[in-house]
Amino acid sequence: MNTNAALYGDLERILVSREEIAEAVKKLGKQLTEDYADRAPVMVGILKGAVVFFADLIREIDLPLDIDFMSISSYGSSTKSSGVVRILKDLDRDITGRHVIVVEDIVDSGLTLSYLKGVLETRKAASVSIVTLLDKPARRKAPLEVQYSCFQIPDAFVVGYGLDYDEKYRNLPDIGVLHPRIYSENP
Ligand code: 5GP
Repeated sequence: MNTNAALYGDLERILVSREEIAEAVKKLGKQLTEDYADRAPVMVGILKGAVVFFADLIREIDLPLDIDFMSISSYGSSTKSSGVVRILKDLDRDITGRHVIVVEDIVDSGLTLSYLKGVLETRKAASVSIVTLLDKPARRKAPLEVQYSCFQIPDAFVVGYGLDYDEKYRNLPDIGVLHPRIYSENP
């Protein structure tokens, strides 16, 4: 049962259900709690797509931690990466000497995160690890080590659970493949 019938009608299929997401997020939270025991990491959420995942994940981590956010441009309203990376909103706090965990919704070409990781390392963080909910390894263009990934998915454009198409669908609790008719209606 869902209350977003119109939005669900735009999906070709559900790829990852809310139950599968909840289970994976719980498991990842437990893993991070173990791996970062005795440390107080800074969790950096990448706006806006990672917000839903981020909010769920931090509540599954049993450690003292700080949160911060960055906004980076890589996609416009289309479904193809422009390869252009620009910081639209930077961190509020200094990360010198801190263990940083970057939380992303999806790694596609890897261009966005390999750029961002480089930026954070020049700021003398003690460590920078990458957490992603979804990974499309077949699409990688930049070399990038992803330390924590919940789901590897095929090369399809997905929406829901924070991920958008033209700012829509972020509020869907499940992740689904957007029906191609939606892009052809909105070139
Ligand atoms: P990358 O730099 O790795 O190519 O792109 C990462 C960003 O592209 C993600 O943070 C996300 O905003 C966007 N992106 C990549 N694939 C998808 C997808 O299938 N669906 C949505 N909604 N965004 C995607």
